[in-house]
Amino acid sequence: PTTITPKKHMLKLVILGDSGVGKTSLMNRYHSQKFTGQYKATIGADFLSKHVSIADPQTGSVRNVTLQIWDTAGQERFQSLGVAFYRGADAVALVYDVGDRRSFDHLENWRSEFLKQVGLEESGANFPFVLLGNKIDRPQDERQVSRQLAEEWCERSGLGREMGGPIPHFETSAKTAENVDAAFLELATLAVIHE
Ligand code: GDP
Ligand code: MG
Repeated sequence: PTTITPKKHMLKLVILGDSGVGKTSLMNRYHSQKFTGQYKATIGADFLSKHVSIADPQTGSVRNVTLQIWDTAGQERFQSLGVAFYRGADAVALVYDVGDRRSFDHLENWRSEFLKQVGLEESGANFPFVLLGNKIDRPQDERQVSRQLAEEWCERSGLGREMGGPIPHFETSAKTAENVDAAFLELATLAVIHE
């Protein structure tokens, strides 16, 4: 007998990266087109919801889904997010600050910690990640991570996804909104494909 798995209406997107790179600001920009410029730890809800229509590249059909975007409440400083944060993620955004080399060097830790927590260490190359280099609005002379360096990382880490090729990379600004919608759209689309 054929088993039909119903398509999910809810997709869980998780945002990971060092403290201060702009995860909360990116989520708020995408969710409500706001940027406060204030530094404050996320409080309250575990996630924000947003209804979107996504074109499924495999079927051509348009899917109406609710994105649950999960942001940390600042616990990333202590590297202890807990398995509930990661569990059931459909796609993950890895974020670094283009003006902070250390945040870039830590990406591999975030990637492998996630895969470990969800038990995907073996098949990890198939999991949909998107890489965001944030704060691109800052002065060029403060840049510590070149686009090329980031794209090389994406090549190395991304083999084996269904679509093949490197992890998609976006340079973003939560402050000016540059590329924020595009990055989240890619993230949601990969989640739909991966489902
Ligand atoms: P998180 O710890 O990763 O959640 O980072 P936050 O979203 O709290 O941002 C940390 C600091 O960076 C705050 O002062 C933000 O206002 C600032 N910030 C976040 N995104 C940007 C950006 O795109 N450009 C600039 N210039 N500052 C940003
Ligand atoms: Mg935050």
